[in-house]
Amino acid sequence: MKDFVYKCTGCDKTYPGPGPLYRCKQCGEPLEVVFEGDKTISQNGLSDQTMIERYSSFYPFDKTATELSLGEGFTPLVKSRKNADKYGVGWVYFKNESANPTWSFKDRGSITGVMHALETRYKAIGTVSTGNMAASVAAYGARAGIETFILVKNNLPEEKINPIAVYGAKVIKVNGDYGQLYYDSLEAGRELGIYFINSDSPFRVEGSKTIAFEIFEQMGMEVPDHVIVPTSAGGNIRGIFKGFRELKDTGFADRIPTIICAQAEGCSPIAEAWKKDKRKIERIENPETIAHAIENPFPPSGNEVLRMLKSPGGFCVSLSDEEILEAQKDLAGEGIFVQPASATTLAAIQKLQKDSYWTGSEKIVSILTGSGLKYTSVFKKMNLQTYSCNLKELKEQLKEMQN
Ligand SMILES: *Cc1c(COP(=O)(O)O)cnc(C)c1O
Ligand SMILES: [Zn+2]
Repeated sequence: MKDFVYKCTGCDKTYPGPGPLYRCKQCGEPLEVVFEGDKTISQNGLSDQTMIERYSSFYPFDKTATELSLGEGFTPLVKSRKNADKYGVGWVYFKNESANPTWSFKDRGSITGVMHALETRYKAIGTVSTGNMAASVAAYGARAGIETFILVKNNLPEEKINPIAVYGAKVIKVNGDYGQLYYDSLEAGRELGIYFINSDSPFRVEGSKTIAFEIFEQMGMEVPDHVIVPTSAGGNIRGIFKGFRELKDTGFADRIPTIICAQAEGCSPIAEAWKKDKRKIERIENPETIAHAIENPFPPSGNEVLRMLKSPGGFCVSLSDEEILEAQKDLAGEGIFVQPASATTLAAIQKLQKDSYWTGSEKIVSILTGSGLKYTSVFKKMNLQTYSCNLKELKEQLKEMQN
């Protein structure tokens, strides 16, 4: 690998690469990758290169690992005039991350995590997850042909385990405190030579930078005014912040957008701390929300997200399950079916309109983090209507229903 250091996001202490290292030995806060080097955006056609090839100068990797790519990234940025008019803003854009190979943004950080594991000569990888990240790491582990361990909650139902196991990963149901598993997996991995690509591991955060790079390019080398990010562990929002920061530091962009951290009311440790102006998050005791992808009760990057929201700047919004469900239906009504966690972004736009926050000209990007088909159990709460008729009565039935 090229030379880089890890810097503590809490106390600025640095540690030499290549690692993997995860958290500061001094203060316990998450580390981030600091890589100095001339940064450019390759101007080759998008169809000729992978996501990592295009942005490779932002990474300390020796190789671009084209053979690992499953076609991650370069997801659509869909303009919505309808929602812009409805909420009285300049533009609403949907960054549709369900167009990734395993239907969520997690693929961006899984490929950078696997690349780091391979360049540091690891023979096994793993992750701790019950959902999108598990499937994503399993898929990239299969692609790389590397032994892959997925640690899930003991009570995870079969129908959620099978879409992980299908990739051939070794799935282990772990009985015990799930929050502690994040830390214990890192320790076991260190001893056994298993590279854990957990929610906010430094090289997973590196992958999420590409969301910022792509938005910037898709908007014609322009920075949006606001970016709304559904947030759980905090890895993705950190990566998006870091991506915009690097665009500014390298002179591509002249500013950083206001970043809005969207959480579910039933599990909003970051939003709660933000509201009380605290510097440290507190564990949520009984999380309860339909937005399962953002249900981490004690986010490992929570304190760092609070710091980033202070500077370079942003704020938190938390949404009720009703608001989330309504927004999920609204998005589907525009042709985009996302999971509840992702719908918090549109719900946040609506809530901020009620609070008279918008001034009328802003360009807002909603990060639609994952696909609706991952959580079909939510249909039970939707009261969706369908009709039936006999074949002989088809014409009458259609006529009756026609507007
Ligand atoms: C993982 C995930 C999130 C939360 O991302 P963090 O990096 O944990 O904050 C949000 N939405 C979806 C669909 C996810 O899979
Ligand atoms: Zn530190």
